[in-house]
Amino acid sequence: MRPSTCESEIREGTARMPDRLDGIPDAVRAGRPTVWRNPHRRPAAEILPGLTFGLADVADAEARWRRFDPLLARLFPELETGRIDSSLLALQPDVAAHVAGEMGAAIWVKADHALPVTGCIKARGGVYEVLVYAETLARRAGWLASGASYAGLAEPDLRRAFGAYTVAVGSTGNLGFSVGVMARTLGFQVEVHMSHDAKAWKKARLRDIGARVVEHAGDYGSAVAAARAAFAGRADAHFVDDESSVDLFLGYAAAAFDLQRQLEAAHITVDVQHPLHVYLPCGVGGAPGGVTLGLKLLYGDAVRCIFVEPVAAPCMLVQLAAGLDQPVSVYDIGLDNRTAADGLAVSQASLLVAGTVGALIEAVITVEDADLFRWLRDLWERAGLRLEPSAAAAFAAVRPARSSLLEARGGTHVVWTTGGALLPEDEFRKALAAAPGR
Ligand SMILES: *Cc1c(COP(=O)(O)O)cnc(C)c1O
Repeated sequence: MRPSTCESEIREGTARMPDRLDGIPDAVRAGRPTVWRNPHRRPAAEILPGLTFGLADVADAEARWRRFDPLLARLFPELETGRIDSSLLALQPDVAAHVAGEMGAAIWVKADHALPVTGCIKARGGVYEVLVYAETLARRAGWLASGASYAGLAEPDLRRAFGAYTVAVGSTGNLGFSVGVMARTLGFQVEVHMSHDAKAWKKARLRDIGARVVEHAGDYGSAVAAARAAFAGRADAHFVDDESSVDLFLGYAAAAFDLQRQLEAAHITVDVQHPLHVYLPCGVGGAPGGVTLGLKLLYGDAVRCIFVEPVAAPCMLVQLAAGLDQPVSVYDIGLDNRTAADGLAVSQASLLVAGTVGALIEAVITVEDADLFRWLRDLWERAGLRLEPSAAAAFAAVRPARSSLLEARGGTHVVWTTGGALLPEDEFRKALAAAPGR
């Protein structure tokens, strides 16, 4: 980051839009790590009743997941029950102390970096949206007799039938992979539009499973826009729209039920006296936003959701700080959206997500790339967690949260690790080597 360039762009930006961008702190504009307490946050009881989605919608999503359990168990032998879920891991006291910067902190890891089938949190949203599409087609065409097990959707004749349809998606990598794996496994054609920052191995892996990969010179937002335009109005195709899909969002939201079950099994009390702090890496916002909606519906103000973004791509922070009337991108304040956290390299947040959970998010914390690599290395060496840089982001936010959000010290802390298990070994070694010296 060259401060001089940044300054001049800020002045231009301010001249164009004096009011909206005023609320964005100078440290954020300068690409410095920041703890941004959300001034728009309101009590859950005030916000939840006015939202378009409620507990019934998330419960519906959960029920659909369960309808698909027999099919998923048949398609993916690694899934014993068909449930795509990860463990809730307790960090050992010494590791927890390292993460929190002090002794005695209760730090848990929601281990979506090891989520079965796709090794990242996109298995919740992306896989779910493909299942919704498959169910819609199958019901419309009468392929699903009422009461029949969904396991029947894996029969060869249905695979051939699905093959007449295309599932398309724009992605920096993980969403394309998750949608691609699920859709190809069911027999769909798959087309993935990738941004310039998508990693080569992610493109290669998609081609390996028979997906068509279309590469774009621009960033993630432009890849999504191109794909959206290419598939608009096609009756034989479905475009998974990361910026505005309700199904994607609700698929993520159902994760709240998984966490609730695990917290109960671990006898962890969550109430206003024993708050739950959840650290969520944020790209376009669908995954952390969906999880936030689900958790707020279950726990209200007893849960505090803290979004974590790279200093170069704080798109949700910028959108919330500027207000929701118009889209704002990180380029508008002179940031460049260049980060090693490819899963978080998003310049413009989802307005659906910002509009839904904008008043429910506790804070947004921005972190430097060097810290992603440092935490990636430390969690590997100390706890054996195999993370990709995006997933390490949440660890980098725990200390800043505990020192700057005063009330964040006690209670339970859950760090949501969002991807990494399927990182090729040489990529993982490169990430380990990128950690700065101790
Ligand atoms: C996609 C992704 C995120 C963030 O999800 P969004 O829905 O884009 O906010 C976080 N971590 C990883 C590893 C991801 O792939």
